[in-house]
Amino acid sequence: MSGSRRASTGEYESLVKLCFNENPYGPPESVMKAMTGALKYANRYGYPDGGIVQAIAAHHGVAHANVLLGAGSSEILDIAGTALLVGGKKVVGVEPTFGAVYEHAAGLKDDAIRLPLRADFRQDIPAIVKAVKDNHPNVGLVYLCNPNNPTGLIVTKEEVKELLDGIPPEVPVLIDEAYHHFVEDPRYETSVPYVLAGRQVIVTRTFSKIAALAGMRLGYGLAPVTLMERLRPYADNLSVNALAKWGGATALQDAAALQRVRNDLLQTRKKTVSELEGLGYQVLPSEANFFMVNLRRQARSVIQSFRERGILVGRPFPPLLEHLRVSVGTPEEMSRFLDAFKEIMGGPKH
Ligand code: PLP
Repeated sequence: MSGSRRASTGEYESLVKLCFNENPYGPPESVMKAMTGALKYANRYGYPDGGIVQAIAAHHGVAHANVLLGAGSSEILDIAGTALLVGGKKVVGVEPTFGAVYEHAAGLKDDAIRLPLRADFRQDIPAIVKAVKDNHPNVGLVYLCNPNNPTGLIVTKEEVKELLDGIPPEVPVLIDEAYHHFVEDPRYETSVPYVLAGRQVIVTRTFSKIAALAGMRLGYGLAPVTLMERLRPYADNLSVNALAKWGGATALQDAAALQRVRNDLLQTRKKTVSELEGLGYQVLPSEANFFMVNLRRQARSVIQSFRERGILVGRPFPPLLEHLRVSVGTPEEMSRFLDAFKEIMGGPKH
């Protein structure tokens, strides 16, 4: 499944899929109903769109002009990369993180300045500030994933402020909040207020995780109009399909269903993590719907052993080659994961 090989439909159904931080429960009933209703627009371009942009704008208290829809937040990351890295500009961020912006930069033959995480696996804000200043005016974009994928660790609201106040104000910062809904740590805060304040910040969100719409492709970016004016020329107004728009607008209204999924996934994550800790393994303090466990041996062969047991877990994330990223599935899936983990790794490691 990972990389080039796709499982056949039959094989796919039987696999335990803990590799892409997806939502194992599927979209809420209300969302399924809205999407089914929107199927009648399958033959149209100019269909009513369920009020998706208005719904997002109202949800965040921003204007329509601050919202850019994408076929997944990946599309917004690509648009930001294309718009802001033209002319050989550099992107600055940490490694490991969600690498899409770096890959996009590589496609444009641009440089990425990838800074190591701190010893405690957190993002090194002073190092990012320094790299931006040292490379100014050649930095086109700073990428900050909060919480970070693959570690699950947050950047605190003080650190976000330290970053934004520390760099030249005209340097755009993309703050990727794909896992925002899972955070419990009170030191975290969304960065949407910076958009409202007119800072050069793009906040991205996705319906792929909490709303379980990964296969439907819906995400968005929020930015002040001055920054949106740079992004919009690269946007494709037809990339988001009718079902995704209607499903997304309904998901934003069904807060109770999203809250249930959040509670279930957090409870399952905590239970799985405490079992792994009970076996003597260290797990990074995740605030997301996935976690990283330190195997104290190369993850690559362990990933393969899980694959042989019909369980897909995350790929290696250099330079953290002894850590395994595991997405949180249903309680049944996590108990299959734990059984396989004990089999593959042997007895407790105390
Ligand atoms: N950002 C982060 C941090 C992610 O982990 C992902 C997907 O795993 C995405 C963005 C892209 O999500 P999508 O394009 O499905 O919205």
